[in-house]
Amino acid sequence: MTKKRNIVVKIGSALLANQELLTPRYGFLQRLLEDVAVLRSQGNNVILCSSGSVALGLRIIGETPESAGISDKQAAAACGMPLLLNAYKQVGHEFGFEIAQVLLTLGDFEDHRRFLNTRNTVHRLLQAGVMPIVNENDTITTEEIRVGDNDRLAAKVAQMVGASDLIILTGVDGLYDRNPDEPGAQFISEVTDVAPYMEATRGKSTLGTGGMETKLQAANMAQEAGVTTWIAQGETDRPLSTVLDGSRRATKILPHPNPLSGWDSWIANRLQMAGSLVVGEDVADALAEGDRPIRREDILSLDGDFTRGDVLHVYDNKGTEIARGLSDFTSEELRVLANNPDTAAEQLLGYKTRGNVVRANNLVMLDTRHLLWDAPEALGDG
Ligand code: GLU
Repeated sequence: MTKKRNIVVKIGSALLANQELLTPRYGFLQRLLEDVAVLRSQGNNVILCSSGSVALGLRIIGETPESAGISDKQAAAACGMPLLLNAYKQVGHEFGFEIAQVLLTLGDFEDHRRFLNTRNTVHRLLQAGVMPIVNENDTITTEEIRVGDNDRLAAKVAQMVGASDLIILTGVDGLYDRNPDEPGAQFISEVTDVAPYMEATRGKSTLGTGGMETKLQAANMAQEAGVTTWIAQGETDRPLSTVLDGSRRATKILPHPNPLSGWDSWIANRLQMAGSLVVGEDVADALAEGDRPIRREDILSLDGDFTRGDVLHVYDNKGTEIARGLSDFTSEELRVLANNPDTAAEQLLGYKTRGNVVRANNLVMLDTRHLLWDAPEALGDG
């Protein structure tokens, strides 16, 4: 038996909720799930990352997209989620399959144990032939601990399940080299490096290029994990198959030819920065040679409050991000080590340690193909 392909589909709120009435758009759901049924019958697993809970819940709590504040949106998500899932369930039954709700938070991706636990649950659902519908648990997440956009959430899910494809269904037909409303804007049908387009979409009004930045970030994460990303308009018959068979316009973002291993991809693909380190140029060069840990004496400065097992972003002293790696120390321990370079680590910490901050096999060098994060404001505070 050949292995089933896992296809992750991200669906934006505007496709799911009627803009004026803020009610479910059953016509769209029917077209979507009819096509999901076709893909499933061809032996694929489909996993949805669905937005729409906030939009569908607003009316119930007497708010509008314009009037709602953060706590209104949290309450709206609680009201909208059952409505959204009920709509999926009804339509799913029409096409003969069951659906399940998987509500996640940032920690379910950033903490490796929780990441694996979530993965097991999703695999169990797929094994039972049930289609998982993933969304962020907006009701309980606050600004600091949320993913925020379902584009990157979907990319993390694609990485989690080892997807072949990530299809992002949206209101535009794909990526343009500039705001599509500008004269002369060129459609981009295939992308290998998303970086040049990040510049073109960054800092523009969200109108026209709406949300393209997070879509490209998502695509970059997917590339690293060996997943092909498609950005396509959702408003059509057979919205998924026509993308996969190339019969309609979509932007295809190619997977990297040498994708990272599951472990390295988990380390490299971050949603939030727990902390960061700065190392000197000579250390940066030595790390690039490979198979070398980051040692206590390599650290010029550090930033953030992190715990053992958190992923740190590693910068050179010019502020360019060069690597990401798992910390073997808490930020508190690391500050004690860094501030007392002449005292043995064992004496400072009270336990036996080699003083390797990031072990070589927990360190991923970011070559030019990966989108780099800006260093925190004050490049390290020692
Ligand atoms: N989780 C949000 C919702 O269900 C949507 C976030 C997004 O669309 O990126 O409404």
